[in-house]
Amino acid sequence: MKRQPLDAALADIARQNLTRRRVTVDGFAETGQRLVTTVDGRTLVDFSSNDYLGLAHHPAVAAAMSECAVRLGAGSGASHLVTGHGVEHERLEEELADYTGRERALLFSTGYMANLGVMTSLAGRGEVVLLDRLNHASIVDGALLSGARFKRYAHADADAAEQALLESSEQAVVVATDGVFSMDGDIAPLPRLARAAVAHKAWLVVDDAHGIGVLGQRGRGSTEKLSTDDVPVLIGTLGKALGSFGAFVAGSRDLIEFLIQKARPYIYTTALPQPIAAATRKALAIAQRETWRRERVLALTTRFRKAARELGVPLLDSNTPIQPVVLGSSQAALRAQRELQEVGFRVVAIRAPTVPKGSERLRVSLSAAHTEAQVDALAQAMSRAHVKDAVE
Ligand SMILES: *Cc1c(COP(=O)(O)O)cnc(C)c1O
Repeated sequence: MKRQPLDAALADIARQNLTRRRVTVDGFAETGQRLVTTVDGRTLVDFSSNDYLGLAHHPAVAAAMSECAVRLGAGSGASHLVTGHGVEHERLEEELADYTGRERALLFSTGYMANLGVMTSLAGRGEVVLLDRLNHASIVDGALLSGARFKRYAHADADAAEQALLESSEQAVVVATDGVFSMDGDIAPLPRLARAAVAHKAWLVVDDAHGIGVLGQRGRGSTEKLSTDDVPVLIGTLGKALGSFGAFVAGSRDLIEFLIQKARPYIYTTALPQPIAAATRKALAIAQRETWRRERVLALTTRFRKAARELGVPLLDSNTPIQPVVLGSSQAALRAQRELQEVGFRVVAIRAPTVPKGSERLRVSLSAAHTEAQVDALAQAMSRAHVKDAVE
């Protein structure tokens, strides 16, 4: 195809109400709650970030980052396998292995790259990977890049996953799922998926980007009660509850060694800056010590759900800090976003292809840094915005 003018393509995106716009994060309230400034200069309380434990702004985390930068420099200089692997990376990997109860952990620059690395290392041409229909785009892209055939089973449906495994038992090598689904907030049927994957000798890959640090009795995430045998490949991200940046894969010694040899998104990229690893180590220590952060974000979630129910705001069935309201079209989701913006809240409309067409939504995410008053005010504002005619 010849080179096409992009203005026509952009106009087409706009016609479908699919234009994405950035807003600039301006700073933090005294509570540590993120504040966002829109193009028209309004300051909004952010209910869309994934900073579940309120650690992104934490002074001790920021101090660990700057202290490390002074000591070890801003950049790593090379990939991990050349000369980019430093002591802060090494310690963080040990601490993440310990935290997740796995033999080893391996840092990746982003969760997106961790998923590409895992899928392309464990699956290939002539093989089959099974994915939940609502898996994160980075798992889907990893499956595409692997060259394996992929089948998608009905969302969070362990029977459908088992059926798909039975139908392609010979070639099925990977079953991959989000732990907590990023746009729905519900949790995968992990024990059953684990049993099915073990029975068919497939790898179960769980991407717990939104569970790590938040769920489980000890905050270890949606897989906390499951061993390496159940979940041999555990992926976590560090830019959400842990407030910094990056990702990791945790598993057996051999799995990690294999990824170091095979995973191109690990091998062919510059190592994360060590100050980021230092900040993450501090955040991990705080998350473990200050259990009130996890308790608080879950208590605020319960509070928000109760208020929304009383006010007739139809939330999806989610017990995690991700609380979506499905509005059914881009137009409806954008209108609700605009209405909330007018009264001081940033709640982003999520549209296709991030969610299936027809399930466009507002996605509220709660943080330990929110105040009770902000949460109550948001529920009130949502009850006055055009969300009550939402599809339940
Ligand atoms: C955010 C997210 C990722 C990507 O992680 P990054 O570190 O932001 O690249 C991967 N998987 C899921 C389920 C996510 O929600």
